[in-house]
Amino acid sequence: MARVMIIGAGGVGQVVTHKCAQVPEVFSDILLASRTKAKCDRIAERVYQQYGRKIQTAALDADKPKNTIKLIKKFKPDMVINVALPYQDLPIMDACLATRTHYLDTANYEPKDVAKFEYKWQWAYHEKFKEAGIMAVLGCGFDPGMTNIYTAYMKKHYFKKMKYVDIVDCNAGDHGKAFATNFNPEINIREITQKGRYYENGEWKEIDPMSVHKPIDYPGVGPKESYLLFHEELESLVKNFPEIERIRFWMTFSENYLTHLRVLQNVGLTSIKPVVFQGKKIVPLEFLKALLPEPASLGENYRGKTVIGVQIEGEGYSGQMERRFIYNICDHAESYKETGTQAVAYTTGVPAMLGAMMVLTGVWKGAGVFNVEEFDPDPFMEKIGQYGLPWQETTF
Ligand code: NDP
Repeated sequence: MARVMIIGAGGVGQVVTHKCAQVPEVFSDILLASRTKAKCDRIAERVYQQYGRKIQTAALDADKPKNTIKLIKKFKPDMVINVALPYQDLPIMDACLATRTHYLDTANYEPKDVAKFEYKWQWAYHEKFKEAGIMAVLGCGFDPGMTNIYTAYMKKHYFKKMKYVDIVDCNAGDHGKAFATNFNPEINIREITQKGRYYENGEWKEIDPMSVHKPIDYPGVGPKESYLLFHEELESLVKNFPEIERIRFWMTFSENYLTHLRVLQNVGLTSIKPVVFQGKKIVPLEFLKALLPEPASLGENYRGKTVIGVQIEGEGYSGQMERRFIYNICDHAESYKETGTQAVAYTTGVPAMLGAMMVLTGVWKGAGVFNVEEFDPDPFMEKIGQYGLPWQETTF
């Protein structure tokens, strides 16, 4: 029986709230807080209609730790699940430290003025969390999150030495809109317009954005053009499994998506440098976000599936070279039926709920700041299917 405070009422927050509400034996009291309270209330109403459970809601600007501290002191959660934006990671971690409350998120901290995806700011909190005797679990969505756990599972069960790791992420869905992003547009566009990066033989190699691509054959979907990007789990996996010789991240994009993105970039709308418009400073990317559909609203007509997994080649425990592929297939329409959101939000929210459950039930233990591959993957892998993200295994 635990009290949980969820911050962020976007697509992912909606899934986490539904998922926590489905498990009252663990999450006995739930508070959903976000910048716009009306969004929390809409989610709470849906949860009430579906499961008859009352969720508390609150308005919260989590940019300032003092606001979050005040709400934590009032609600007294055992854990905060942060599914607001990466900019809020550090202020929310500060609030958790001040109140000795466990913390979990799904995306690493980014400063607003530079698109930089690095764990250094959050890893720097390790000693403080350790001294406070509390846990911060970083990156517990799908990628990062599930992909780190798939890697840890394959290390534990199959590979004496993991040599080549490829994380492959395919969205073969269609939402029927001309252009939209599947999660927060600002974060999504910052992520894919920066230089690509991968790790090989002890060093990071940089490439121009979207310049390396190839078709990858995704189970249940078929071959899809996939682009090499930097993704944050690469950094923690290299740190926690230094044996890895090469690790890359691949994601599918449609021609239509890339054409829109190119045009938006060419006219300057993806820039994060402020410009003066009618006497007011605006950030073009923030303005673009205001025009694009909210990710949480994409679910209704979304058809198709996501396929995300990890392919590893290396030396097996028998001494033979082995190739293993663990993945999940998630259906947009099924996700919508259950939680009112599409599969990208669903695949992020389910691991966040289960990660919180692992901490609150004492299965994942420790004090400090952790990435999810540092925990025993087995209890998580045993349970994740029953909560909606079954996994499959094959060679490739
Ligand atoms: P949305 O933009 O749909 O939702 C973000 C929510 O956070 C909104 O409700 C927003 O409020 C709220 N918010 C923003 N600023 C503040 C603030 N200062 N204080 C309180 N609340 C705030 O994003 P998503 O739901 O798509 O994504 C949520 C998180 O999940 C992001 O960090 C994203 O990077 C991460 N993610 C991780 C993935 C993974 O696999 N690991 C995959 C997809 C997403 P308002 O509505 O008022 O703007």
